[in-house]
Amino acid sequence: MSENCLFCKIVAGDIPAKKVYEDAEFVAFHDINPAAPVHLLLVPKHHVTSLQDITPEDAGWLGRMMALAPKLAAENGCNPGPDGGFRLVINSGAEGGQEIGHLHCHILGGPRPWQKRAAPAA
Ligand code: 5GP
Ligand code: ZN
Repeated sequence: MSENCLFCKIVAGDIPAKKVYEDAEFVAFHDINPAAPVHLLLVPKHHVTSLQDITPEDAGWLGRMMALAPKLAAENGCNPGPDGGFRLVINSGAEGGQEIGHLHCHILGGPRPWQKRAAPAA
């Protein structure tokens, strides 16, 4: 656990979240500000700041996290098959759009079109 880390506090149960899954290694919960009809965050229980910090020794739990994502997507409203599906996003570092410094996968899915984002000013 890393002090002052929001997701470590959610993992520990010190901050509430709408959890949909928990095992010995991972927790998944609904994003507080969903960007799609289904928007889950899947986080390792141990603190890792970013995908930038990953080494080959992390391949085991990272592989298990990848294998878990489609199961959670299917169980939480993403449609199956080629006409369904989901998007998996790991923002990494400030220039990668990461705001919370505890590695996490965004699982985004549900019927399109999703909420439109404003186009950047020309
Ligand atoms: P990042 O930009 O770091 O990839 O994504 C952080 C995500 O965490 C954002 O989508 C944001 O909505 C979500 N988030 C921020 N604070 C909280 C919170 O307190 N609870 C939950 N459930 N999600 C949060
Ligand atoms: Zn943390």
